Amino acid sequence: MSELAANVPRFVVVAPLGRDGDLISGFLNGAGFPAENLQQLRGVETRDGAMLLGLILTDEALQRGGLDAVRRLVRSQPVWSDLPVILLTSSSTEPGCAALASQARIEVRSLILLDRPIRKEMLLSAIQVAFNARQKQLQVRDAAVKQFQSDEALKKSEHLAVAGRLVATLAHEVNNPLEALGNLLFLVENSSTLDEAHSFGQLAIREFHRISEIVDHTLKFHRAPAHPSFTDVSELAMSAVTLFRGKLRERQIRERVTAERAFGYCSEGEIRQALVNLIGNAVDAMKDGGSLRIHVMPVSVDGVEYARMTVADTGGGIRKEIRPQLFRQFFTTKGSSGTGLGLWLTRDIVERNGGKLRFRSRTETPCGTVFAIYLPSSPPLEQPKAVQDRGQGAGLQRVAAAM
Ligand code: ADP
Ligand code: MG
Repeated sequence: MSELAANVPRFVVVAPLGRDGDLISGFLNGAGFPAENLQQLRGVETRDGAMLLGLILTDEALQRGGLDAVRRLVRSQPVWSDLPVILLTSSSTEPGCAALASQARIEVRSLILLDRPIRKEMLLSAIQVAFNARQKQLQVRDAAVKQFQSDEALKKSEHLAVAGRLVATLAHEVNNPLEALGNLLFLVENSSTLDEAHSFGQLAIREFHRISEIVDHTLKFHRAPAHPSFTDVSELAMSAVTLFRGKLRERQIRERVTAERAFGYCSEGEIRQALVNLIGNAVDAMKDGGSLRIHVMPVSVDGVEYARMTVADTGGGIRKEIRPQLFRQFFTTKGSSGTGLGLWLTRDIVERNGGKLRFRSRTETPCGTVFAIYLPSSPPLEQPKAVQDRGQGAGLQRVAAAM
């Protein structure tokens, strides 16, 4: 029998007695199903699951630790995998083998039992069934991997888009105080009295602080740790809104931030990005001015402590017809200036941090939209089990009602 190339997915045949192993693998290879004959099961669990189409065993192979190896192999399979196992049994084998075979029947989900002596057509049809099932599993895995990769790429691209917007905001925000600073320094230089120079100098220092504050907040955004920790989200909210001050002034949007100290167990950098997305949307919704209100407070829902952050605007609101699509990738009403990834990513971030994202919106006067982020105040394991089990149940309705 010729050797199979290393990258060919195959059936593994283990039939330790006589020439059964050689005969079966030869027969399968001849029928177009790549198969490899092994002397024993031990060590098979270290194989890459995707390279195994299935196992074909005689019941003697389960002896001397063979059943344990099958157990380990089945347990080590990735979630997409339900490895087909074909067990060839015989009434003439010793009682120990029969006992192992019935144990395997209990423990291995995709087990096909065939009685020896076996007819070739029977074996072939069992192999065909196992092969088809495995192909389906591999297709599902490939589709899941593709989806995961494209989701990750999108998240990265949205992160880059946010970074790009921040750089633009930074340049825009720094420009005004920088210009003022230049003028004030000119006035200091040309002052006729020390008092005059002093007062211009003080104004210049204020502008200088403003620039360093903007730079500081922008850097915080990029340097925030990615791992979860106890975070004072009120500080986060204040820092996120600072990045929009220039735009708010320009659009004549009044801002009000009321932040009580509230701790969330979360990844600071991710939640900062989520807040920037929500504030950015609120600002976009108020093209002709309005009022932005950001409120942070600790809340308790069904005995569970959360940090709640709300971002409310007085923009035109979100029409009912588009609400079901809001959290879909690429859904935007902003044409080429929108990416349609902000809310999708924001919800992903919030849920990844164990929290919930909720919103309410009105398109009739007084119109506007409120988005709320709920972040648990303790790490997941410390939460009462009832909350974890409840999922979308009563607790969340209370959360929504609390908005
Ligand atoms: P983008 O901002 O790039 O359009 P998002 O995912 O952030 O993508 O938002 C999707 C859409 O949701 C927006 O295009 C807008 O139509 C709507 N939207 C989100 N937030 C608001 C808001 N505060 N007010 C009105 N519409 C909003
Ligand atoms: Mg957006």
